[in-house]
Amino acid sequence: MPKLVSFLLIIGLSVSVSWTSGQDISAAQETEQTDPAQQKLDLFHQMEMLTNVPWFYLAAMDQYEKNIRPSQQEDKEKKQLLSIQIPPEEWVGPQNPDAEDTSLASIEFFNGAGMDGDGDGLADPTNDFDLLFTVATRLAQHGFTEDDIRIGIWEHYRSHKAVKLISEFAKVYKTFNTIKLEERAFPLPIHSTYSYRSTWGAARGWGGRRIHEGTDLFAHYGTPVKSVCYGVVEVKGWNRFGGWRIGIRDLNNVYHYYAHLGGFNKDLNIGDVVKPGDVVGWVGSSGYGSPGTSGKFPPHLHYGMYKYNGKTEWAFDPFPSLKRWERQEWDKRRKKK
Ligand SMILES: [Zn+2]
Repeated sequence: MPKLVSFLLIIGLSVSVSWTSGQDISAAQETEQTDPAQQKLDLFHQMEMLTNVPWFYLAAMDQYEKNIRPSQQEDKEKKQLLSIQIPPEEWVGPQNPDAEDTSLASIEFFNGAGMDGDGDGLADPTNDFDLLFTVATRLAQHGFTEDDIRIGIWEHYRSHKAVKLISEFAKVYKTFNTIKLEERAFPLPIHSTYSYRSTWGAARGWGGRRIHEGTDLFAHYGTPVKSVCYGVVEVKGWNRFGGWRIGIRDLNNVYHYYAHLGGFNKDLNIGDVVKPGDVVGWVGSSGYGSPGTSGKFPPHLHYGMYKYNGKTEWAFDPFPSLKRWERQEWDKRRKKK
């Protein structure tokens, strides 16, 4: 009898094991299908086939709007994949008495912008396909060269900053052929000798500002300095206080500032695309004088982070991010071994 019980138990166990593993597979497939980034990417690709507007410009516009959207409007993003918005009065037409009109005929009558992308006869701004089709069709009117698209973006946003940022994002998306670019790196090799502590807002630093906006990472001369993120080089050259410094904009509108460098990676120019871990220069002690001034303070990397919300730019404390990236790199190393 005990033998039969254990036999049944084993059967029962193996059934439940195979049942759960089967469930795990379908759960994994489901996550893949419902991954919002992948769904968005698919949508951008579909729209490129339909309108000939390169997918990476549509992705860049969506990312631009995501970055400038106030947080109270995040509700909309939960229901819809896209962050792109067209104001209701523009969608339905300024004279249209119905601000939520989705009838194609009456939107056309009132000269509204709204179009029907999925062919259901409605122009619905809460339908991602209709929304993106409307935006892409607008861009397509100006042509498909890089300059044409920039003119289209200008006509849509009427902002030089928007054109600049969207062009930068598009370049990054095009280079890596994806929008999944969340990876980050620590700015110094984690096996090198360095030290840093939280000095946010300290009255004195080597920053030359009233308060110290950044983190100083002390290291030996010549230690490689790496990009922490995917992004575009916006600034490179001499600054009276920062010395040899480089500025990189990431896809979340964060500007990463690396100062007091001993020198730059010579292959890197303004407008170039970088990825996490790319060497941008090396640690030095440049700054506080005319170009080339060096050695007035111990060698260190001054690293600053600045967020732009479409209106203003402000510095925030990089220390917690540095700690996180450092830990992630150590974790990655441990896993490899
Ligand atoms: Zn500093």
